[in-house]
Amino acid sequence: MSVVMGHYDEAMVQGLPPEVREGLYSSNSYFMTIDTNENRDYLKRMAALKDVDGIWPHGNGVLTNFGEGTYLCVRAYADAVNRAGNMETTDILSALRTISIKGPQGSVKMDPYTQHAAVNGFLAKCNADGQFDIIKGFGLERPIIPDRYRQLHNDNLTEKDDQVIEVQQPFDVDSFENIVKSQKAHDGPGLLFSTAFNFVDVGLVAINAASKIVQVNLVAEQMFGYQPEEILGKPISILIPPRYRSGHGNHIMSFIKSDSNHVLMGQRGEISGYSKDGREIPIEASITTFQSGGETYYTAMLREVTKYKRIEKELKWQASHDSLTGLPNRKIFMERLEKALERTSTTGKDIAVLFIDLDNFKMVNDSYGHVVGDQLLVLMGEKLLAVVGSGNIVARFGGDEFVVLCEKIKNEKTTTKLAMSINEKLREPIEIEGIKMFPSCSIGVAVGCSGDTSSKHLLSNADAAMYQAKEHGRDKWLPFNAEIYKRSRERLDVANGLRMAIEKDEFSCVFQPIVDTNSHKMVGMEILLRWTPESGPVSPAIFIPVAEMTGSIYSIGSWVFEQACKAQVRLTEAFGYQNCPYVSVNVSSRQLETESFFKDICRTYNDIGANSNGIIIEVTETALMADVDINIRVLKALGMAGFKVAIDDFGTGYSSLSLLTKLPLSLLKVDREFVKNLELSDQEKSVAKAVIGLAHSLGLKTVAEGVETEGQRAILSDLNATYCQGYFFSKPAPLENIINQYGNQTF
Ligand code: C2E
Ligand code: MG
Ligand code: MG
Repeated sequence: MSVVMGHYDEAMVQGLPPEVREGLYSSNSYFMTIDTNENRDYLKRMAALKDVDGIWPHGNGVLTNFGEGTYLCVRAYADAVNRAGNMETTDILSALRTISIKGPQGSVKMDPYTQHAAVNGFLAKCNADGQFDIIKGFGLERPIIPDRYRQLHNDNLTEKDDQVIEVQQPFDVDSFENIVKSQKAHDGPGLLFSTAFNFVDVGLVAINAASKIVQVNLVAEQMFGYQPEEILGKPISILIPPRYRSGHGNHIMSFIKSDSNHVLMGQRGEISGYSKDGREIPIEASITTFQSGGETYYTAMLREVTKYKRIEKELKWQASHDSLTGLPNRKIFMERLEKALERTSTTGKDIAVLFIDLDNFKMVNDSYGHVVGDQLLVLMGEKLLAVVGSGNIVARFGGDEFVVLCEKIKNEKTTTKLAMSINEKLREPIEIEGIKMFPSCSIGVAVGCSGDTSSKHLLSNADAAMYQAKEHGRDKWLPFNAEIYKRSRERLDVANGLRMAIEKDEFSCVFQPIVDTNSHKMVGMEILLRWTPESGPVSPAIFIPVAEMTGSIYSIGSWVFEQACKAQVRLTEAFGYQNCPYVSVNVSSRQLETESFFKDICRTYNDIGANSNGIIIEVTETALMADVDINIRVLKALGMAGFKVAIDDFGTGYSSLSLLTKLPLSLLKVDREFVKNLELSDQEKSVAKAVIGLAHSLGLKTVAEGVETEGQRAILSDLNATYCQGYFFSKPAPLENIINQYGNQTF
C-alpha cells in the first residue's frame, strides 16, 4: 500500500499515468471540491471563465482546497498566538486546542491529539481513471461529500447517514497519546503496548484506575532504572520524588475522576521523576486515558528533559553573567541592586555602590593585545572578589568597568575602608605573560536607601564620582557629593544643549596664527571652535569631552571641517596659492574611529574646492594612542589624499616612538605644559629641549603651543622650535581679523 502524504488530489493525479496513480492512498484533512454553497458558487463562476471548458472531470476547471487549508492553518496559528499571549511553544499548543476557525466548510476546530484541524479528514484511494474512492472518513465533523462521490459510496457515506464513522486519528509522531489510544488491547493489561512502543524515545507507563502500574515500556524502565517486575503492580507514586507525591497523586486522581481524556502534568507539563537510585529527573509528562477490554487505563507519557534543562540553565547563566570573568553582568546587578534597595526600607540601613574603572586599560590592550588585556580583566575581577568578601556583589559592566554592591554598611568608615582596600589591592604590581604591569583604578562611591534614591540614581552617582576621580588624577576614590552632582548636572546640560547647537547656529570658529619662531611670519593657523548658547559661552575644554562622550562630536566635527575648508579657500584668495598659510583642524579620536570619516572629509573638501595640501589634521597624542591600528590606517589614507598630520599636545600622552616613525606626520605640537615654565628653571628648559630634540630626530618640525612672552619665544628659538603659537603673537580671532593683521606679510 502506498500512502501519499501532503497535498495530493484530483488536480495532481491528472499528471500521473493511470498505472501509477491507481491504488495510491491519500490522506487529506479536507477534500477538494467539497459541495458547499461557496464552492458551488465558485465553480459556477469558474465554469464561465474564458478558456474553461467545464468542471473537472468533465472539463479543465479544477477547484482545490489548498488555499483554504493554508488560510485555516495560518488563522488558527495567529489566533493561538494571540490567545497564548506569548511565543512559548507549549502555550501556543495549549491555545491551539481551544481554537475554532470559521471556514467555507463550517467551523473548524483543532484536534487536541494531532494539533491539526479536526474537520472532514478522509482516507481516499485513487483509481486508474483519476477519481478517488473514499475509504474512510475520520475527524470530529461528519464529512460532506461531493455529489459524485455520494453516488459512488451511497451505501456508507450519505449526508443523512448518522452512522458513526470510525474515529481513527492520523499518525503523528508527536502525539503519543494517539499511539496508545489506537492500540487495541486484546489480552488484558499485559499487552497494552505492542513491542513497537519499545522503540519510541518516550517513556510510557500505564496505570489502572487504582493508580497501580500495569505496564512500562523500555524507555521508562531505563529512565527510572527498574526492571518491569520491580514496579508492576506498584503505585505510580514510586516514580515521583517523595516531596511531590501527594501533590502529583492528587493531580492524577482528579484526572481519573474527571471527564477529560488528556492532561499535561505540572506547569507546562514539566515535573520531577524519581529513579530507583533516588535521582530526581526533570521530565515532561502528560497523561491520557484509554479503554481496553472494557477497562479504563491511564498512560503517562514521559520525556526526559535533562539535556534541555542543562541548555536552558546555560542560556540563563549566559544572559546574566559576563563570559570573560564569570561575574554577574549589568542586568543581574541592577536586579539585585533593586532588591537590596527594597530591603533598606525594612532594615533602615544604607547600601553603597562602588563604580570602579581601571586606569589606562586601553593602553594595555593596545600595547600588549587583547589576550593580555583579557587576562588583566580576569585577574582584576578575582582581586575584587577577594577584597570585597562574601555578601557583597561584584559585577562587570563591560570594558574595564566593575561595580560593587555593598549591603553591609556599619558606619561611614565601612565604605571608606572598602574603597581604599580596593584601590590598594588593584594597585599591586602584577605580571602577565612575562609583562610587568602596575595597574590602578579610579572609584566612585554612592550611598543611599530606598526613600531617597533609586537604583538608577545610585549607579549614575557612583559613575559621576568615578569620572571625577579620574579627572583628579586617577588611582583614587571619591564619594559622590553636591559638587560632583553639580558637575554631572552641568555635563548633562551641556550634552543636551549640544544636540541642537548646529541647528540653532550657536557655533562659530576663531583662528589662531602659527608663526615662524624667528621671523614671526604666519605659516598657518589653527581653527578653534566656539560655542555660545543663550546662557553664555562654554569653553571647548568643557564641551568637547562631553561631545565625544555622547557622540555629538561626529556632526560637530564635520561642521568644523567644513568651516576649515571654507577658510582654506578664503586664505588662498587672500594670500595666493603659493603663499597660502595652512589651516590646522582638530579631529577627535571618536571621529577617526568612524568608518565614513575619511570618505566624508574627502567629499567635503572636494565639494568646497579646498586644497588638501593646505590642511593639517591635528590629532592629540592621547587620541592617537586610543586605537593605534585604526588610526595608523586612517592617517595613512589621509596622507595619501594630500593632507598633512600633526600630533597635538605632544608630551602629555604615551606615544611609542616606533609608532611615530610609521606615521605620515609633518608636525609635532609641543604641549603648553612644556612652554609655560620655560623661563622659571633650567630643568624645565632641558625637558622642553628633549621634547623638541626628539621631534627633530624624527625629522619633524615643531610648533610650541601657548607662547605668552618674548622670553619664552627667545628660549624656544634657542631650542630650535620651528614655529610658535600663543597669545604673545595673537589670540584666537575671526578669520577676517587675522587676514587683515597678516595680509601684508611677505614670505
Ligand atoms: P588645542 O588644540 O591644543 O588648542 C590650543 C588651545 O590653547 C586653544 O584653546 C587656544 O585658545 C589655547 N591657547 C592658545 N594660545 C594660548 C596661550 O598663549 N595661552 C593659553 N593659556 N592658551 C592658549 P581652546 O580654543 O580653548 O581649545 C581647547 C581645546 O579644545 C583645544 O586644544 C582642542 O583640543 C579642543 N578643540 C578646540 N576646537 C576643537 C574642534 O573643533 N574639534 C576638536 N575635536 N577639538 C577642539
Ligand atoms: Mg589643536
Ligand atoms: Mg594643543
